[in-house]
Amino acid sequence: MQNLLHNLNPEQLAAVTLPAQSALILAGAGSGKTRVLTTRIAWLIQTGQVSPAGILAVTFTNKAAKEMTARLGAMLPINTRGMWLGTFHGLCNRLLRAHYRDAGLPQTFQILDSQDQLSAIKRLLKSLNVDDEKYPPRNLMYFINNAKEQGLRAHDVEANDDYNRKFVELYAAYDHQCQREGVVDFAELLLRTYELLTRNQPLREHYQARFKHILVDEFQDTNNLQYNWLKLMAGEHNAVFAVGDDDQSIYAFRGANVGNMVAFEREFRVQNLIKLEQNYRSHGHILDAANTLIANNSKRLGKNLRTDAGHGEQLRVYEASSDIQEANWIIEEAKSLIAEGAARSEIAILYRSNAQSRVIEHALFTAGIPYRVYGGQRFFERAEIKHAIAYLQLMDNPHNDSAFLRVVNFPTRGIGARSIEQLQDAARQYGISLYAAVPYVTGKAGSSLGSFVKLVEGMRFETQNLPLQEMVKVMLDMSGLIPHYQNEKEGADRIENLEQLVSAAMLFVSEEGFGIDAPAFLGPKGQQVAGEALTTADGVEVLDADAPLPTVMSPLSAFLSHASLEAGDNQAQAGQDALQLMTVHSAKGLEFDAVFITGLEEGLFPHENSAQEEGGLEEERRLMYVAITRAKKRLYLSFSQTRMLHGQTRYNMKSRFFDELPEEALKWLSPRVQPQWFGHRKSAWDEAPEAGANKIAQSFSRKDAGWRIGETVMHQKFGEGVIVNIEGGGTNMRAHINFGKHGMKLLDLGIAKLEKV
Ligand code: ATP
Ligand code: MG
Repeated sequence: MQNLLHNLNPEQLAAVTLPAQSALILAGAGSGKTRVLTTRIAWLIQTGQVSPAGILAVTFTNKAAKEMTARLGAMLPINTRGMWLGTFHGLCNRLLRAHYRDAGLPQTFQILDSQDQLSAIKRLLKSLNVDDEKYPPRNLMYFINNAKEQGLRAHDVEANDDYNRKFVELYAAYDHQCQREGVVDFAELLLRTYELLTRNQPLREHYQARFKHILVDEFQDTNNLQYNWLKLMAGEHNAVFAVGDDDQSIYAFRGANVGNMVAFEREFRVQNLIKLEQNYRSHGHILDAANTLIANNSKRLGKNLRTDAGHGEQLRVYEASSDIQEANWIIEEAKSLIAEGAARSEIAILYRSNAQSRVIEHALFTAGIPYRVYGGQRFFERAEIKHAIAYLQLMDNPHNDSAFLRVVNFPTRGIGARSIEQLQDAARQYGISLYAAVPYVTGKAGSSLGSFVKLVEGMRFETQNLPLQEMVKVMLDMSGLIPHYQNEKEGADRIENLEQLVSAAMLFVSEEGFGIDAPAFLGPKGQQVAGEALTTADGVEVLDADAPLPTVMSPLSAFLSHASLEAGDNQAQAGQDALQLMTVHSAKGLEFDAVFITGLEEGLFPHENSAQEEGGLEEERRLMYVAITRAKKRLYLSFSQTRMLHGQTRYNMKSRFFDELPEEALKWLSPRVQPQWFGHRKSAWDEAPEAGANKIAQSFSRKDAGWRIGETVMHQKFGEGVIVNIEGGGTNMRAHINFGKHGMKLLDLGIAKLEKV
């Protein structure tokens, strides 16, 4: 057996080997929190304090769960498959699959991702004839998710006015629709599990007896429901080992409550609060930058980070005139990093918003550099994949109305809007699913719908007992999707993606091991259980605490859950040594040798939306702290004077975060354009109480303060033109001006006689 502990510093060692009581490890980025958590699991098992089946570990993403599983596998000679290690959603899904009856769900319940949820809500509003301008679907979705995250069902929500009463009524109708269709949204996965365990004492006691050790990474980003869920799982006696960093709390917009850390300390009677202050990830300048920046936040629990690594290199700052130029600069820098021997996968390009990736992707593509995008449009969110998945969903659960509507006439088979209306009427009248309502529709509509039902039944019949990837192939053949796309102009890509789905199914089967081990047993109530099913004195089905992996899903159900839950991974690009592109949010917990933080502009990062929210700027600053602390050795910061976003050119000021970084840690690569020569784009920040840092902006809101990009000017010879770029500084300023039919001119602003128009 290897010595798990020899690579730890004294504080880490203390944390790993704490007695079996609840503990909080509060520590900054890169101080080894995740490493401590993983090592503690291994240590608990190795010292015989708990069997792998007695561990419940929660990670923030599926990717993190995979990595942790792999690390544990390397540390210990055990089969990690039986461990309950995953995200809150993944773990709840597993629990609900095992106890679907008690949870009041059909065995083949399916998961709505947020896109599906929104379309389910739109459909609901339509069926109830609700004005979707007055009650926007997105607002309703937010309302519902927010209520669920507070643990509230529709009848628990207090509404003080008619408008909110309507929302509550729609929330109830939405839940009803989901129940009828056998689908659950993300928040429902958690709430349903929470309610199940609250209500069902034997089941709760079973899991409490089983999971003696509960470990949670990224604890600062738990929401209230997750926190209460943990409380329920822990009961009176189990040890919850929570690690987190309040400075990295970046999901408040999704209900995360950093106050849970304080509550945890009190409610779990934490006697062991351990701080880790040694950073092992980043060089000194990078760490200084992170520390100096985050010191501008007021609401902090307080801790420090130091490193033994030297100062290292300064942070390289680049100012581009356009987003395209910024992208080209990134490519050049990345190329020279690679030429110096850096692995592509050790280079990350981070951005605040997904929309920024397009220009960078284009430049990478043109330069022929392999890259991989996380987040953004996920493989499983592409239209053609959604269609294919809808067929698979119908094969698994024909009562999923969303899936039904998506493909009933796709590819077209002569089922028009009128027929669908007839069908919806019948379904409403009898309170049944669309699929079940088909026999009630008569005439021509009835017979075309009947053929569709036959098609789905045929697919189910043909694929019985087939391995998953064969099922997918049969579905592709029978559905007519491939021939449909063959006739489409840009269909080749889509067909390729559909073929990719077969590979995704194959990969899934091999990774999850379906059909290889895990013999299936039927539980006392007929549910499929791999491993041993036990019945308690109360007749509750539970799983033997030491049984192997309880695989209660069919491979198809499991694959469909995976399609909904898998964090944004572009599978088509998997497995290559590629540059890593992602939002700052999805970079949480990761580390890279070299990191680019791009688009550091006011309104973009910090993002303008957060100006309206209380504490919005502090959250943006934490996000910047997360971004900076991803870098081990080299960090690049860039911003651009102009940027095309959402079809508009924006003229930007550099991010205020530059003023919050230590000057000595920065190395400016481009000549600095004096900020006063930028016009001030009025932004919501000016009114925000936290806008004190925006001093520069405020002193230049006067119109005559200088030349502005985007400003119209008059030249004696060339006539009217628009300033598109300004370069240089001080007395040496030049501007690119577009003079229409005279073309683009580069003029020295000190010499050219320009007038404002
Ligand atoms: P984050 O807050 O970003 O999630 P973290 O606190 O979880 O960071 P880890 O990812 O666990 O930090 O560790 C950061 C890096 O430091 C990893 O590469 C890890 O292997 C390394 N590391 C942690 N502890 C030690 C140690 N005692 N000796 C050497 N390297 C260490
Ligand atoms: Mg971590």
